[in-house]
Amino acid sequence: MAGAGIAVLFAVMLPAYRTPAALGPAASPAVFSAFRARAILKDLVGDDLPHPIGSAGNAKVRERIVARLTALGYTTELQTGLVCNDFGVCGTPTNIVATYGADAIEHAVLLAAHYDSVAAGPGASDDGAGVANLLEIARILRVMPARRHPIVLLVTDGEEAGLLGAQLFTREHRLAGRVWAAVNMEARGVSGPSLMFETGTANAWLMKRYAAAVLTPITNSLFYVVYKTLPNNTDFTIFKQASYQGFNFAFIGDVGHYHTPRDSFEQTSAGTIQHQGDNALSAVLALADSEEVRPPAQDSVFFDVLARGVIVWPTALILPASLAAWMLLMAEALILCRRGQLQARQAAYGVAGLLVNLLVGGLLSFAVLALLRVLGRLPPMDAPSWIAHPQAMHIGFAALALVSMGAVAVWFTDRAGFWGFWFGGSLGLALLSIASAIAIPGASYVLLIAVFAAALAPLPWMRRLAEGRTPSPGALEFIALAPGLIMLAVLLPLLLLMYSALGALAWPISTMVLCLTGCFLLPLLANATQEARQFIMLLGGAVTFAGICVTLLLPTYSAAWPQRVNVEYWVDADRGAAHWWMQAASQRVPEAMADAVPFEPFLRARFAGYPARGFFADAHALKLAAPELTQISATPGTSPAAVHFELLLKSARDAPTAFVVFPASANVQDVLVATPSGPLRPKLHRFLNGDTVLLIAGLAGTGIRFGIDAAAAPILATVFDESYGLPGALPQGKALQQARPQNATSSQDGDVTVVQRTVRLDPAAGR
Ligand SMILES: [Zn+2]
Repeated sequence: MAGAGIAVLFAVMLPAYRTPAALGPAASPAVFSAFRARAILKDLVGDDLPHPIGSAGNAKVRERIVARLTALGYTTELQTGLVCNDFGVCGTPTNIVATYGADAIEHAVLLAAHYDSVAAGPGASDDGAGVANLLEIARILRVMPARRHPIVLLVTDGEEAGLLGAQLFTREHRLAGRVWAAVNMEARGVSGPSLMFETGTANAWLMKRYAAAVLTPITNSLFYVVYKTLPNNTDFTIFKQASYQGFNFAFIGDVGHYHTPRDSFEQTSAGTIQHQGDNALSAVLALADSEEVRPPAQDSVFFDVLARGVIVWPTALILPASLAAWMLLMAEALILCRRGQLQARQAAYGVAGLLVNLLVGGLLSFAVLALLRVLGRLPPMDAPSWIAHPQAMHIGFAALALVSMGAVAVWFTDRAGFWGFWFGGSLGLALLSIASAIAIPGASYVLLIAVFAAALAPLPWMRRLAEGRTPSPGALEFIALAPGLIMLAVLLPLLLLMYSALGALAWPISTMVLCLTGCFLLPLLANATQEARQFIMLLGGAVTFAGICVTLLLPTYSAAWPQRVNVEYWVDADRGAAHWWMQAASQRVPEAMADAVPFEPFLRARFAGYPARGFFADAHALKLAAPELTQISATPGTSPAAVHFELLLKSARDAPTAFVVFPASANVQDVLVATPSGPLRPKLHRFLNGDTVLLIAGLAGTGIRFGIDAAAAPILATVFDESYGLPGALPQGKALQQARPQNATSSQDGDVTVVQRTVRLDPAAGR
């Protein structure tokens, strides 16, 4: 029965969460067509060239975008300027801002995507697809009647370097203060449905507009809770800081390609582009047609139903509703006690069963995770760790919940019985629902729905008994099965996406969540035979064991889902020495690469204080020009114990990235970067050892001038500049790149060349 219910659930839900069919070239001009968007995308990034901030490829992509916007009749404008973010990164992005017709723009809605890519790949999905969607929507807006409020198109630069373009727009652009809402299109993968995972602060108001406007909504307030645990940020973070309302969309399927050369046009998904385009168009129109432009900041809890509609609850309702469900449960328990169906002892054992179930599920799942890690089948868990063939463990970790539930049923059935388990599970969920209403309201809808289902399910049965009639034979099964399946239905959209979002950490979480859902399977098991309970436990164990075996037999990485491996060539200009540094997700040197260059067998930090670790090997030292940090002046600082240094940072070999590390002892408090629109005060990023770092992305040939306030003593600063790729003059570098196996790929900045030197800053030397 339970198995059949779960099968039906999957059969209904899986198709509902697929991406919609892509519309072709013949689609009406007034609708979004993925075919047309992909044709634009091919023109933008079909050459597969990376185009990070400041690169030649970046300028080319920008020209192509401007040409298309101009051809559509938009007035386009390039906005360039120096800007710094809150993580100690400065740069000079060039945004594209496009408007149509309106002279006096007021209450504008922003439609945004970023055109820069990481250095390792062409960024066809991240965020080329967003830009192509924006251009297809720009075309549609021209054939539609004008909206109540103007729509401003913003194509940002330097998002990958640290949301620089979005900062530049909100900080300096004349239209920034005339925008009240933004719709952002992003990607952390190359396929899958478009998820709406973040809104502005007027959440309750926004979600009502959203529910009415979007045809295939896939969204819930738990997405944002999960997103906040990830190290990722998007331009929407900056839009929110600027108090814009609005929506943030992204897709996360095939995340193995994200930020690698495989994020290419070939890998883009038409269905994904259609879904994201449809969503963004509907959302931007809903905002542009809105009468209200100052909606009240108010939170809501929301979730979609089979991607067909959205249910929105005010957050204030959650706690009273949770308390009401809890009281209903307690009343039912009292009635059951009076009728002699439930004894206090059974109820207590039911609660204990739930706790043991969660404990056993948690212990087993983390033990299996540790086993896979020890056997070398899982990358370290400090970064999202994905493997090429995770399907067997998706099933294996789900089956662990059966082991745990089977064991609890075997141990506790005699003492808890059907009603003891039902009460224990329901009460546990009710208490969790109350806790979540207070601590994590975004997650509360799952628990609240489950608790209400659990509390309502026995009512018909109790009524029949009260009327003196005999309940139908399936009535008891219904009491357990209905809330279990309803809870699983609410969780399934999340469970299906969790591995993409969190990597292997999703597995133990899924096991625990299924154990919690399984508290409704326990009453059914209580009514089964002891053999059936043992069978469930053994079945779960066998499936998990099979999953582990399959995972051990299959390779951890594949060409379609490669390991991330970057090679860096480092020159220390002070010592005239050089070394290779290789970072591999598996924390092992691929064999062929070890043959090419003898790497040390242990991991070392990239440089002192830096968090990432990799393998070192000696390298031939090329004479590469070292970066320059010139002390222009040293004057008294703001406090008597401080000195203000004016400094000029330049890359003598035109490297696009440079960074300066100040030792903790320098106690650098304040950084000042002068710009035409006033001084910037970037917050410095601090390493664990206390050193602070300032990073410049897309460094101009003339360098960057900045001032620091530091302790009044000589400072030994370390300056680095970083260029993409390895020097052609090094045969070893070529050999390493050729030895990078088929199942490995560069990612993020890719292979780079770094030159470092130390510079002595002296308070006595400046006038
Ligand atoms: Zn992106």
